[in-house]
Amino acid sequence: MVDFERLARPGVRELRAYDPGHDLVALRRRFAEAQLVELGSNENPYGASPEARQAIQRALDGIHIYPDPLGGDLKRALAAHHGVQPTNLLLGNGSHELLMQFAQVFAGPGDEVVASKFGFAVYALAAQAAGATLRPAPALPRENAMPRGHDLAGLRASIGPRTKLVYLANPNNPTGTWYAADEFAAFMAQVPGDVIVVVDEAYAEFTNAPDYASALPLVTLHPNLVVTRTFSKAYALAGLRVGFAVADEGLIAVMERVRESFNVNALGLVAAEAALADVDHLQASIAGNSAQREALADALRARGMKVAPSQTNFLLVEFGDHSSRIEARLVGRGVVLRPMGGYGLGECLRITVGTEVENQRLLAALDEVMK
Ligand SMILES: *Cc1c(COP(=O)(O)O)cnc(C)c1O
Repeated sequence: MVDFERLARPGVRELRAYDPGHDLVALRRRFAEAQLVELGSNENPYGASPEARQAIQRALDGIHIYPDPLGGDLKRALAAHHGVQPTNLLLGNGSHELLMQFAQVFAGPGDEVVASKFGFAVYALAAQAAGATLRPAPALPRENAMPRGHDLAGLRASIGPRTKLVYLANPNNPTGTWYAADEFAAFMAQVPGDVIVVVDEAYAEFTNAPDYASALPLVTLHPNLVVTRTFSKAYALAGLRVGFAVADEGLIAVMERVRESFNVNALGLVAAEAALADVDHLQASIAGNSAQREALADALRARGMKVAPSQTNFLLVEFGDHSSRIEARLVGRGVVLRPMGGYGLGECLRITVGTEVENQRLLAALDEVMK
């Protein structure tokens, strides 16, 4: 027998594959009639832009042809939208691919990667897969106004001489919390110029807090700053896998060397471009989410649960010692949430904000289960 564990590089040997949660395909079959309520993966329940669907339909005629390896049209549209140059943009097969590649390119054995204790799970995976060492920075305490959110002072203090890369998410998954724009500007001013800071803004479109701001305008001030975005969440194209990064053109040029030439598929390219242009559809999703986010948080708090403040399309909710039993019983009733044991938050469940109907079904099931 071949010992493939031994053949793998040390970083990979210690890796655990990303935990995708329940087998949703099987659950969908089981609850085909009752309709499964899927609130585990932060997808957008309002669906993709009709313009994006039409663009996909039109592109089907050319599906036997390789996609544009440069993604030129999408890059030009994104550049105009965000006020940057196409050379400041890197397209990814979802932002997940890019998050992995930053570590692959900029960190290796002997290097450290810093991320907040309750940061997105992919950052640890990226560091380990690259053979680098993850150094977890302390998160804000549970009692804080931003429970378990990023502690920028703690992150700064965790940066050492071996640190190559820092990953942050704003707002963060799975906590839903955010940090203020002025705090981040002060943080960037203190980070050494040769440490690359990746700010993952997967949920940026959903924010409405007055103290939140995207890090995008800071990219021109700090060549070591990278901002990632995705079409998977507010733009509702998760199934197509399109994300992008904005950074200094020198940094992008280095990243381009490891990018698989056709990493963004032809349907993804045209759909993302069309979705970007359909501002009304995006705004409707955002408005629906923010109204339901508030209503669902209120309904859960009225039931005595602790709900972390959120600027995303999900809520991190404390269910206490019985959380895994509650979660399992909800699945039995066709309602899927995301368990948080993998984050060391076993007492919590992460709940995607659904449509009003989905949220009502969740609350009704919860009331039955917790009786
Ligand atoms: C969903 C999510 C992403 C997006 O991943 P894609 O690969 O673009 O679908 C990135 N970061 C965080 C924190 C997320 O929650």
